Amino acid sequence: MSTDDMKKGSVEVIPDINEDFSAWYTGVVRQAKLADYTTLKGCMVIRPYGYALWENMQAHLDARIKATGHVNAYFPLLIPESLLAKEAEHVQGFAPEVAWVTHGGEKELEERVCIRPTSEAIICSLYSKWIQSYRDLPVLINQWANVVRWEKVTRLFLRTTEFLWQEGHTCHRTEAEAINEALKMLEVYERFYAEDLAIPVLKGLKSQSEKFAGARDTFCVEALMKDGRALQVGTTHDLGQHFAKVFDITFLDEDESQKYVWQTSWGVSTRSVGAVVMTHGDERGLRLPPRIAPVQVVIVPILFDRSREETFHYCSYVGEILSEFRVELDDSDKSPGWKFSEHELRGVPLRLEVGPRDMEGDQVTMVRRDTGEKRPVLIEDLPGVIKETLDLVQDELYRQALVYREERTFRVKTLAELSDGLEEVRGFHHAPWCGDVICETRVKEETKATIRLLPFDQPEEKGACLVCGKDGRWEAIFARAY
Ligand SMILES: [Zn+2]
Repeated sequence: MSTDDMKKGSVEVIPDINEDFSAWYTGVVRQAKLADYTTLKGCMVIRPYGYALWENMQAHLDARIKATGHVNAYFPLLIPESLLAKEAEHVQGFAPEVAWVTHGGEKELEERVCIRPTSEAIICSLYSKWIQSYRDLPVLINQWANVVRWEKVTRLFLRTTEFLWQEGHTCHRTEAEAINEALKMLEVYERFYAEDLAIPVLKGLKSQSEKFAGARDTFCVEALMKDGRALQVGTTHDLGQHFAKVFDITFLDEDESQKYVWQTSWGVSTRSVGAVVMTHGDERGLRLPPRIAPVQVVIVPILFDRSREETFHYCSYVGEILSEFRVELDDSDKSPGWKFSEHELRGVPLRLEVGPRDMEGDQVTMVRRDTGEKRPVLIEDLPGVIKETLDLVQDELYRQALVYREERTFRVKTLAELSDGLEEVRGFHHAPWCGDVICETRVKEETKATIRLLPFDQPEEKGACLVCGKDGRWEAIFARAY
């Protein structure tokens, strides 16, 4: 690399977002230092900047989970095979991806244990001990944990062998209460994505073939990424009494009869970091929503030898009056141009440039990452303007993502139309579906698109199934997905 290239900054080597989205994604994740690969295939390391982003997201979601009455606990990483195997559908669903521990030190274990791919089995086995009476209900527990799924094809944040998530596991006295819980948490997820991550999501029901192994119904939130592919970013499951019967979770009801509890589980993972990258990123790198950005404001001094000390002094003062925000002062000895590119790559929402002219005018030059808009702001107005502008950036990112999704939402009537549509512009395609898995599979084979969800708002007239022409039972949303 020549010195000229160095001055332009590392942004130059991010692959073109319009040419190769997948290479762009990996390039941005690695160069913005969110995450990196390790020598163990499929295992990624979340680097400090990526972890700070995840921590901010986690803090918002955790607050929302607690505000709806849930408490956190921590269950073991290891699950005995006999526990996991209790529920056939569940174990079959996860069997291909389970990692097994067979030895403790040198000694072979009498019973192998798995590293949790999800925690229903271990948690249900404990709930059966803890729950005796209707007075013990509801149980509303969440855990923040790592899980392992031995994936064949992996991609940073989107599909990794080990990932971080929260998993909620609840028990209820009545069926209605459990269904209500699953829908309530779906709404919590919807608002978390919309308000904290500036990502508009669709919510609805999964088709039976796409639901969680062991669930009666799975509900989901789905987002549209910048390459027109869908990403499932959260699910909630109505487990019915399925696990309760297998793990014998019963309670003595007020009427003195023994009953099985009704259960739900729900989760959001580090995949949501990938969703932020692929929803908001652009040709220069990340664009982070201010509410979750590890650094909301970066101060970049424009240094000249004779005013060097004075500039640093001025910048420190600016940092002090902005102490209510997450502020970073870039006092490294790199060129201003290099720094601009670097902080754009990292997606810092606002940049404040401080040069001699700014100091003369008791101002800074504020630059928005989302729009590139640049304007002087007087020091005395600065905290107020920053607060206001961060809100504007947050709203603007959401608005752009929503416009993008609307531009890529289509209505098709036949399989041929869907197939042509997907070739032309990828996105969400609404189409009538008879509800038969044969038609669903046919769509998948011919177009690689799957039913992402069955929206809750269903039209009165659905039209004829896009494959077989029989009466549509559902309006389904199809897309190619991650
Ligand atoms: Zn059909």
